[in-house]
Amino acid sequence: MRQPIIAGNWKMNGSRKSIKALLDGIKAGMSNVKSAQVAVCVPSIYIADVAEQLKGTNIGFGGQNVNTEEKGAFTGEISTSMLLDFGCKYVLVGHSERRSLYGESDAVVAAKFAVARKAGLTPILCIGETLEERENGTMEAVVARQLDAVIDIEGIESIADCVIAYEPVWAIGTGKTASPQQAQDVHAFIRSKLAEKSADIAEKVQIQYGGSMNAGNAAELLSQPDIDGGLIGGASLVAEDFLTICKAAN
Ligand code: PEP
Repeated sequence: MRQPIIAGNWKMNGSRKSIKALLDGIKAGMSNVKSAQVAVCVPSIYIADVAEQLKGTNIGFGGQNVNTEEKGAFTGEISTSMLLDFGCKYVLVGHSERRSLYGESDAVVAAKFAVARKAGLTPILCIGETLEERENGTMEAVVARQLDAVIDIEGIESIADCVIAYEPVWAIGTGKTASPQQAQDVHAFIRSKLAEKSADIAEKVQIQYGGSMNAGNAAELLSQPDIDGGLIGGASLVAEDFLTICKAAN
């Protein structure tokens, strides 16, 4: 049985005050979250605050990006050891906003995945097709290419140490969610691709769905056999909505 994992991606949102209120709200409702692992991926400047506020809870936290270098003249960047220094467990790699707005190629994403994993962080590897790719019939090829970019350099064993987030780009922040069947089909495809290399790893890896998952649609998405949780953007900024999604995994 795979444990569901619900992770919030706060993106570039929040203030010290709003984050405190958000985490207070989430912590207050956690006793009703029975089965999901819960985590938040937060802006790096707030990681120290978040670490302090989550002390003694079972809510994990992580960064939204990491550099492949360990230290040095890389203005504006943060390293794996900096994330670990503050107790991060997770880091997002390959989010579509980083791929499209900051030009992160499959190779860059794979390199970030590799350093994060080697450092002992759990990479949340985001993959997914654009609307154009879905419409022109290349969705499966795109998702397979994004997966293979990691597997080719890190091996199938590396997938055992990560969480995969399938996020159709056309559903991120748009309010358009993949239907439960559309999402399930791609999750099953991802699992079948992995199974060609290792049935055991394919069976065990958690695959989240991301893309406008919210309090209203989470239960149906999470009831699909190959959907093992969610990566949540907008709805993770409202404690009540995030908790509803976490509880939907019960
Ligand atoms: C995301 O940013 O990973 C995401 C899924 O965003 P949203 O839930 O807002 O679509």
